[in-house]
Amino acid sequence: MIRTLAAILALSCTALPAHAAPGDAAEAKRLLMDSVGIASVKGRGQTPALARFYRAALVQAGFNAADIQIDELAGTANFHFVWRAASAKAKPMALTGHLDVVEANPADWERPPFTAVAENGFIFGRGVQDNKFDVAMMIATLAQLKASGWTPKRDIHFFLSGDEETDGIASAAQAKQAGALGIEVMLNSDGGGGGLDAQGKPFFYKLQAAEKSYADFQLTITDPGGHSSTPTASNAIARMGLVAARIAGHRWPAQVNDITRASLAEAGRARSDALGDAMRRFAAKPDDAGAITALRANPGTIGQIGTTCVPSMINGGHAPNALPQRVTLTVNCRIFPGTSIAAVQAELARVAEDPGVSFATGIDWPVTPASPLRPDVTAAVQAAVSARAPGLAATPGMDAGATDSVFWRALGVPSYGVSGLFMRQEDSFAHGLNERVPEAAIAPALRHWDIILRRLAG
Ligand SMILES: [Zn+2]
Repeated sequence: MIRTLAAILALSCTALPAHAAPGDAAEAKRLLMDSVGIASVKGRGQTPALARFYRAALVQAGFNAADIQIDELAGTANFHFVWRAASAKAKPMALTGHLDVVEANPADWERPPFTAVAENGFIFGRGVQDNKFDVAMMIATLAQLKASGWTPKRDIHFFLSGDEETDGIASAAQAKQAGALGIEVMLNSDGGGGGLDAQGKPFFYKLQAAEKSYADFQLTITDPGGHSSTPTASNAIARMGLVAARIAGHRWPAQVNDITRASLAEAGRARSDALGDAMRRFAAKPDDAGAITALRANPGTIGQIGTTCVPSMINGGHAPNALPQRVTLTVNCRIFPGTSIAAVQAELARVAEDPGVSFATGIDWPVTPASPLRPDVTAAVQAAVSARAPGLAATPGMDAGATDSVFWRALGVPSYGVSGLFMRQEDSFAHGLNERVPEAAIAPALRHWDIILRRLAG
């Protein structure tokens, strides 16, 4: 805790030149490392403490404690700070991230997961990438902007949710709260971001503007069963096996939106192989059958051109010498933006070709549209990316997974994943063992957030 206090005090006491920018990298690093020490994992009860830690950092930076709200709910906490414009020239904007991190078992880690360790050019610790890095960078940037005398021309709301990694109950509640504030645009630090090649040179940046939604379906076949010596044609395992094969082999319709069209065109331009050719042809003509076939055949692109559903778990039978009475199959779907869960279920039922299959839905996320590519957002993010890597394009992209942005997009708030972190794919261990970020990523990330905030709220 002593180090924590020192970090917070240093944030406020460092003498800063009037136009100093971006935030102080040493202080941002200390904020990041101290935040890792608060194990904001579901069930450990420490997430509210992390929210209070961030509040203390902002208060020490000179912000008003009355503008910071911590709500304890759903066994966790949500955090909300608003930096009000003296006279707003535009509708409010929001910066978002999350407080919680995925559990980590110290026995499996090379270093203690909940004590940040700086070693070999990396900072190690659970949550250091997802999402404590960008949260610390945003706080350090806000502090630096405040210290420099800069003031926003629109209200900046800073939201951190408490259960992004698990239940999403606090996340959904927070999005609803934000939805009532008239927020025009949301920038999520927990999506998008840049990649470094093997030499450490930036080679892509994804501006995440769409996410697929997620649904699990439980398919069940029941049968009277009987003795295994008297087989019947209605064997539930055999029937479910056929259903699983039909679903796995189903070709979902090809779909496209502005985001995937732009990202496939850009990715295609960067490649000279057959896959790159298919990407370019699909972007130009989304009903190009040859291009669709090629993109469907590649696991990295099939999810970019439509909904996908896969049989992922199966369970059935009760004795080696009995006809099965019950078989359940879990089908996991990644649903293209704008497609309803009901429509996916209807398609699965049609493809199953077995009227005896009953359906139930497990987890299902809100169905969300892609966010329109707002010129102000793309220009601001491009300016930040150009400062990091001249000539590199900020390419719009759709994630196959989902973040808190789904709740915001479902409420009609355009939302963009614009993380300031650039790292090599092989160094990325978010949710995994020995999670790390390169120390050298800190200073460019501070500049990233500084540029974006000055452009969108200055
Ligand atoms: Zn995250």
